Amino acid sequence: MRLLIMGPPGAGKGTQAKLIAAHYGIPAISTGDIFRAMQTADTPLAKQVREIMASGGYISDEITNQIVAERLCQSDCDPGFLLDGYPRTLQQVDNLDAHLASIGAPIDSVISLTADEDEVVGRLLKRAEIEGRADDNEETIRRRQQVYAEQTAPLLDVYRDRGLLVEVDGLGGIDEVSERVFAALG
Ligand code: ADP
Repeated sequence: MRLLIMGPPGAGKGTQAKLIAAHYGIPAISTGDIFRAMQTADTPLAKQVREIMASGGYISDEITNQIVAERLCQSDCDPGFLLDGYPRTLQQVDNLDAHLASIGAPIDSVISLTADEDEVVGRLLKRAEIEGRADDNEETIRRRQQVYAEQTAPLLDVYRDRGLLVEVDGLGGIDEVSERVFAALG
């Protein structure tokens, strides 16, 4: 089972990704988590990642594609995987397509978690108080929503045109939403 999960920042992708991946016995791979782990190192690349994430922008496609390609080659991905937060640009879609074509393994479904902007901004501000994530302040949250709308939302049409998109309402309790995802995936 090879799945993608997409949705605006704050839609609950990370939470749902872990539950869905556990259900299907596949790893949940979050590029956001990978970059957060990377940024603590004392290297020029870590500094660059830290600065970009704090601004709410995207890490370059070149770096992101390379990191994902390496991760997907690990043996735990043999039965499949759930990608959370990747692809986020059209170039990342092309890169993922090429990788999947090379291993002869297509994507089964793309889960699109929907939630309106006021709701997701409210959730992120609440998370800011609890987790203290550096990119959860109001200015960065607004920028992340904008970058998502400009660069990532168009990807939904790409996957819709391929007949892979499964839209799920992200509003409601955690279990309520994951039950909707399982029902939609069948
Ligand atoms: P959210 O979707 O809630 O904003 P993530 O944890 O998925 O949070 O991502 C946090 C940040 O990590 C993004 O704002 C971006 O800077 C970086 N990032 C994650 N995935 C990608 C990607 N595929 N391409 C470029 N940057 C990424």
